[in-house]
Amino acid sequence: MNAAADKIREILGQSENVVVIGGLNVMRESGLNGVRAEHIAYDIEQEYGYSNDEIVSSMFFSRRVDTFYDYYKKIILNKELEITPVHEAMYKLQQDGKLDAIITRTVYSLYRKAGCEDVIEMHGSVEENRCPVCGKEFDSEYIRQAKGIPVCDVCQIPLRPGFTLLGEMVDNGKMTMSSNAVAEADVLLIVGASLTAPVCQHLIKYYTGEYMIVINTEEKTGDEKADYRVYGNLSQIMTYVTDY
Ligand SMILES: [Zn+2]
Repeated sequence: MNAAADKIREILGQSENVVVIGGLNVMRESGLNGVRAEHIAYDIEQEYGYSNDEIVSSMFFSRRVDTFYDYYKKIILNKELEITPVHEAMYKLQQDGKLDAIITRTVYSLYRKAGCEDVIEMHGSVEENRCPVCGKEFDSEYIRQAKGIPVCDVCQIPLRPGFTLLGEMVDNGKMTMSSNAVAEADVLLIVGASLTAPVCQHLIKYYTGEYMIVINTEEKTGDEKADYRVYGNLSQIMTYVTDY
């Protein structure tokens, strides 16, 4: 591949304490839009008459739950939730006893679907929609299949989405777990995000380990802080660097 990829492969081969921050580009590679769907913001405004950020706000959810769920089904759940070789590579790292935690703000639980444990989903998950009355949980398939607004099958009350809405606080416990994991890591592997992405910017302040690695689709400003960087197809790169 290239010299940096070879060095990363060597580092991963020798490490036992890697923490991964998984960014939005991992999800994009599987064709999913994400909650905010920034890349199709214009189309969303044309179709809905509201901006993407308005629709996924807590204010909008309480006022226009029907439009919110239309967006949830069509835009957020725009296709089948399928894992990619990136998620498989993370599973391999973990099986080999190298990976301590995966931190992500993506909401599709694809790392968990690949079999990974210790996944910290900072912004929650589409698999954990909840009844605000009885607390029963409903997965993404239940949302997809619902006619109109998905309601609790016991209480008949509209469900709360399983992910954080704009204007809501990120779970403090998850924030602490993430910063602790980063603080204890020897290798910080950032995949599909730039160092200036909000979650990264916050978390790398806690990092005191040996190597910081960035693997992303393209170079971003600020990446030069990393010790090693590789750009290109994430699935190809991750498969290569975990073949130590
Ligand atoms: Zn209920």
